[in-house]
Amino acid sequence: MAKNTTKDYDAELNKTIFDIKHQRTFCMIKPDGVMRGLIGEIIRRIEKAGLKVVAMKMLTPDEDLIKKHYPTSDEKWIARLGNKSKSGLDGLSLDVKDTFGTDDDTELGQSVLSGLIEYMQSGPVVAMVVEGIQAIEMVRKLAGATLPFKAEMGTIRGDFSVDSPVVANVEGRSIHNLFHASENVKEAESEINLWFKGEIICDYSLGNDDIMYCKHY
Ligand code: GDP
Ligand code: MG
Repeated sequence: MAKNTTKDYDAELNKTIFDIKHQRTFCMIKPDGVMRGLIGEIIRRIEKAGLKVVAMKMLTPDEDLIKKHYPTSDEKWIARLGNKSKSGLDGLSLDVKDTFGTDDDTELGQSVLSGLIEYMQSGPVVAMVVEGIQAIEMVRKLAGATLPFKAEMGTIRGDFSVDSPVVANVEGRSIHNLFHASENVKEAESEINLWFKGEIICDYSLGNDDIMYCKHY
């Protein structure tokens, strides 16, 4: 391709390409994923896609960590949690208020959130930083939709979990969906900073890198 660019532009472009190739996301195998023996399977899917695990640890999170992890003071996010629950009633002849005790998104979201905080402390999790081209979107795609019964087959949640917000909400627990993945750049940065602050994020090359990203012919 003929280029008519300045050195500054080329330097900026190279930096942008480098940043794209090294995009980082945070993801986590939740307690149900660990207890079901799915650690290897989930990491295998991440690696098979060509993405690279650059930091990893296992721990049982405490309440403080989980409350910092989820945007617990973001009213919009809480209302979205409540609103997602309602979609579990699609096609059922159940009344939102009678089933959940409220039809207010925020109130419903708060009750989902308390179940979520409890669930995330119920056992060890595997926390990871994953790197690669469009890593944030790629890992969300590997995860599949939040609600397991809506997650496509071929995704982690679709292949290995089955749960519905109606059942979960009525039973007073979080949806069990195996896996967490950051939704966007802001979430990825704050979650990596929270879970791996001051810790080493590794730098290494995969054998695949040459074939996947370099013109070797
Ligand atoms: P995610 O980014 O796909 O994990 O989805 P959210 O950020 O919206 O929700 C965080 C977590 O809350 C989910 O992964 C589920 O474990 C749980 N959750 C989400 N929606 C519901 C719901 O409608 N009912 C219940 N009980 N749990 C939910
Ligand atoms: Mg989320």
